[in-house]
Amino acid sequence: MSVNLEKQNFNGRMVSLRIGVDLGGNDVKLGATDLSAQKKLLPELVKKPSLTQDGPQRTIGQIVDGIKEVLAQLSVDWSEVATIAVTVPCPCTHDGHILNVPNLGTPETKHLWEVPFGELLAAEVSKIAAGEIPVFACNDANAAGQDEDFERFGNSNQPRTSVFITTGTGLGGCVISDGGVFFGLGQAGELGHTKISVPAPYADRFASDPFPQCGCGAKGCVEARASLSGLIRRLGWALGDEGKAFIQRDLEKHDKHIDAEIFSTLSQLYEQSTKKAAYNVRTFADERQDAFCRWLLDDWAIMLGALFASVAPVLHPDLFIIGGGMTEMSVSARDWFISVVRESYAQINQQSCFDSQPGNCEIDWSVSRDQGWRGAILMGMRAHQIQ
Ligand SMILES: [Zn+2]
Repeated sequence: MSVNLEKQNFNGRMVSLRIGVDLGGNDVKLGATDLSAQKKLLPELVKKPSLTQDGPQRTIGQIVDGIKEVLAQLSVDWSEVATIAVTVPCPCTHDGHILNVPNLGTPETKHLWEVPFGELLAAEVSKIAAGEIPVFACNDANAAGQDEDFERFGNSNQPRTSVFITTGTGLGGCVISDGGVFFGLGQAGELGHTKISVPAPYADRFASDPFPQCGCGAKGCVEARASLSGLIRRLGWALGDEGKAFIQRDLEKHDKHIDAEIFSTLSQLYEQSTKKAAYNVRTFADERQDAFCRWLLDDWAIMLGALFASVAPVLHPDLFIIGGGMTEMSVSARDWFISVVRESYAQINQQSCFDSQPGNCEIDWSVSRDQGWRGAILMGMRAHQIQ
């Protein structure tokens, strides 16, 4: 594929494109844009195993190989690369120093990852490219939120505040103010670790699980309920006698019941793999509109509504945006899920100035589909660390 790209002089180099890299625990995905980041240059992202279990150097090799593949597809040389920006699934500083690593490596190799990843990658790139190419590294949820803002508002200077969350294995997020990620002293926007007590209208359903333990060590973080790990813990209870009886009683109030076949399938799956069983909860809730599975995911939606209701008086945002795994559900399942989030928000928030409606604390799905690789490019451009 040959593309016609406009070249510009960046610090004495004639460059034409930017590379974005999305580093995950299992794979690394790479894309490219023109210098304005408006135009995506590849029909499909380049994807490779990230090999993070062995530490960052091995992964850097995979990223470099991925960049070579991007350049080969576009028939351009390393010398034309203006910047490389990479997202990492870890909290990190503005300059890409990884602070801790919940999602990379193995228990034995995690410590290898607490490094200035951007600097290491830049050093490797400069050897291969025979010259300096600025590298920017950032947290993946921040990058996803940045891209979300760009999809909705472009490069507009219009004043705006959005709260973006990405919900899946954990609950990440960021706050975007007037088009830029808000960092505070560095780690602002870690919304999953907001401590939220169970909202009064939902006290009964959570009575058996009042202080869930979060992966960060604290109790009561919203992530401990609104995440895959929260669902796994809850499913263990729901498949037992006490949980099953409680949910059955609650469903009967709405003329619904537990489907014996689905319940039995989930019980068997849970014995084999708790994670697999939890994934199937989402599948049954979506494809079969199963009442038991939807009841379990209601927990997740209720707590997102509670999170938004707690954040609204602090930030009074235009928008709350839900990204991550739930966006992959069918349209009708997404309609059901977001209606529970909105209902929970409305039940908990009683101040009319924070009523959720278009343009005021509106709750909506992500439209950018977590294009963190391009979000990283945009964050790098904004930070002026790379030009
Ligand atoms: Zn936590």
